[in-house]
Parts: sequence; structure tokens; C-alpha cells
Amino acid sequence: MTNEQLQAWVEQISHDSFGLPFRHRASFNRRLRTTGGRYFMKSHDIEINPAQLEVYGKEEVERIIKHELCHYHLHLSGRGYKHGDPDFKRLLAQVGGSRYCQGLPGTAKRRVLPYRYKLTCSKCGMEYLRKRKVDPARYRCGRCAGPLRLNAL
Ligand SMILES: [Zn+2]
Ligand SMILES: [Zn+2]
Repeated sequence: MTNEQLQAWVEQISHDSFGLPFRHRASFNRRLRTTGGRYFMKSHDIEINPAQLEVYGKEEVERIIKHELCHYHLHLSGRGYKHGDPDFKRLLAQVGGSRYCQGLPGTAKRRVLPYRYKLTCSKCGMEYLRKRKVDPARYRCGRCAGPLRLNAL
């Protein structure tokens, strides 16, 4: 299926299930690995994971599209468009959308922190890398149970 076919499909579902036009862009994004789809609050565009189509077929992807269209139409009409909002839950149940998608911006997953601290055993010299500041008095060396000291990297 091409992006043009997906666009036409989303417009069709929007018309048939919501009675409203979809006026933005729908496209496939292969980098959405574990999630079915995504709605962009700034551009109002929708992205769909093409792997979902290959693995689960059109019926499941239609449910994902309906989920994203719930975000889309509720957001554009100023109603509760988030997963926990009653408006969203009601509309999702009404159109038979999938219950899951990627979290919206603001509920984004935590970024991966770099290591910034090092705990060093005063006795055996063993080093432990840490991402956050910790109180070295609360820990002991895992190898020799010696006292640790903390240094910034
Ligand atoms: Zn969602
Ligand atoms: Zn040690």
C-alpha cells in the first residue's frame, strides 16, 4: 500500500465513521517500531506503522487509524483528546478504535541519560558508573564490601 492509498483510506474512514473530513496528511513511517500509529498535535498529521499492516492486516490497521482520528477530531474541535479524557474514551468506543497508540507529546518516554558519576571503592578500586547523583554512604562495594566515594565524570 502506498502513502497515497493510505491517505485515501484515512479520508474514507474519517468520512464514514466520524462524518467529518480529514484535511491533513497521513503517511507510513517504518521507524515506528512498537507502536501502531501517531498523531502530531502541531501539524495534525497522522503516521501509521506499515509493519502493523503486514503483521495484523487491514482490519487492525483500520482500528489504529480510528484511534488516531479520535485524537485528531477531538483535538481540532477543542474537546478532550487525551487517552484519559472521557470524550476520547467515549468516541473511541463509539467508532471501534484500537485502544493503543504511541503516547502523545508531553507523555513522551524518558530519554536515556548518560553516565555522569562514578562510585569508586576505596579498598579494591572497583568502579561503578551512575547516571544520577547518589549518596556513597548508602552503598558498599559489590566485590569487597569496602566503602565507596563519589566523583563526577
Ligand atoms: Zn493515542
Ligand atoms: Zn571494593
